Amino acid sequence: MSGKFDAMHEEPSFGKLFINGAFVGSTGAARLPVIDPFDQSTIAHAVDATAEDVDRAVTAAGEAFEGAWRETSAQTRGQILWRIAAALRERSAELAELETRASGKPIADSESDIADAATCFEYYGGLATKLHGDVTSIEGAMVLAVKEPVGVAAQIIPWNYPMLMAAWKLAPALCAGCTVVLKPSEETPLSVMALASSFADAGLPPGVVNIVTGRGEGAGAALVDHPGVHKIAFTGSGEVGRHIMQRAAAGLKRVTLELGGKSPNIICADANFEAAIDGALFGIFLNQGEMCSAGSRILVERSIYARVLEALVERARDIRIGPPMDPETQMGPLVSARHFERVRAYQELGKAEARLVLGGGRATGAALDRGWFVEPTIFADVNNHSRIAREEVFGPVACLLPFDSDEEAIALGNDSPFGLAAAVWTRDVFRALRFTRRLRTGVVWVNHSQPAPVEGPWGGFKQSGLGRELGRGGADAYLETKQVYLNTEDQPIGWP
Ligand code: NAD
Repeated sequence: MSGKFDAMHEEPSFGKLFINGAFVGSTGAARLPVIDPFDQSTIAHAVDATAEDVDRAVTAAGEAFEGAWRETSAQTRGQILWRIAAALRERSAELAELETRASGKPIADSESDIADAATCFEYYGGLATKLHGDVTSIEGAMVLAVKEPVGVAAQIIPWNYPMLMAAWKLAPALCAGCTVVLKPSEETPLSVMALASSFADAGLPPGVVNIVTGRGEGAGAALVDHPGVHKIAFTGSGEVGRHIMQRAAAGLKRVTLELGGKSPNIICADANFEAAIDGALFGIFLNQGEMCSAGSRILVERSIYARVLEALVERARDIRIGPPMDPETQMGPLVSARHFERVRAYQELGKAEARLVLGGGRATGAALDRGWFVEPTIFADVNNHSRIAREEVFGPVACLLPFDSDEEAIALGNDSPFGLAAAVWTRDVFRALRFTRRLRTGVVWVNHSQPAPVEGPWGGFKQSGLGRELGRGGADAYLETKQVYLNTEDQPIGWP
């Protein structure tokens, strides 16, 4: 453990909430341990916020929205976002360590996530001054479409990319002029709470961003139900997403949802073979497979099916599983005991439903015995109607399926309740275009897997979500459009 983390360990903010620009105590006594999934040690205790705490945070956000933030120009908002980005880059080592200690993801991945989070703040910092409505001239009047922030946004995020998911939520909301109450996952509340200590230096007025930690059914539910919240942005499981949408209906709150997936990764026989193997491999095993967009269904044209299977098995054997703080590690432990049990159950289910060709159990070894490690697992000849092919595992478990024609690959790819992402590997441009038009997913990668550039829209079709994050549209999700009608004639108007 580095000295830097020891210093952070003592940081009082971990047992506090961040409300109205200050680290404050909870009105309740409940605390949740944050467990290191590598060795099951307790890293810190986070507040399990009460409904009263949530009320304080929403009230602060409401007052900031009507006060300081409303009076802050778009240019200043942009500059604040850039300074938050700079803080992320300056504090990268310390924040990456917190991410890795709480989530188990390899330290190299955490460092890259922090850089991506900074890029997200930089993009929306630039966009802040470029948001505008439009004007139409009609007879006797001008009609303006004015963009205004929605108000107070409740943002609820998962544990798999803690800081990046926080950036995807905070940056567009602040760019649009909203104020925020963010609830990180109870598994990984530390890194974003640590970042909050840089907000005042960045120039963020008190109350613009508030962070409450705690359980979903507690703090999360109180936030969703709070009448002072105007918009809910949620990333997490479909089950919780559906529940939130129902609760939000009572107050007709605006809702965006980023949910799960079972994404097809389609490898055609004419693909660049090595590139396709690389992409298929990290498409499912990166971040221990704990990715919403993981290419968990690998569809392979039958003429190269055996070759792809052999190459994937050989390459997956070489993945370096190890202590997440080791810079050489490629796969760390799963986030928690509960998630480990879930993924293990899917490994067993897969054995009953398909042909196991690699892994299928707990990963063991001298350095791994106290961690929630599982083996990279590959099932071959999977039936697309089996549970292992339909349900999101959210772990390093790949399903291989052969196909004989593009029509069949498209049909298999689309035959899923989800529609988050798809990858297609081919050198034939017309083939690639056919796939991009026909696949019913929010993202289609051609000859790549998993990039999520901040410039492009992100989100799912079908049960993978509602609305889009990132890109220009990411800010639109935090804006209302107001019509202003300007009568240009100083004349009596009579009875219309
Ligand atoms: P989860 O749904 O269990 O929890 C997500 C968040 O919701 C947590 O902060 C949790 O505390 C909160 N929550 C739980 N119950 C709640 C309730 N009743 N009211 C309000 N909040 C509540 O999901 P998870 O296990 O943290 O994350 C994994 C899931 O996230 C996977 O399904 C994955 O696909 C999805 N995900 C999607 C994307 C995307 O961009 N589409 C990105 C990352 C993760």
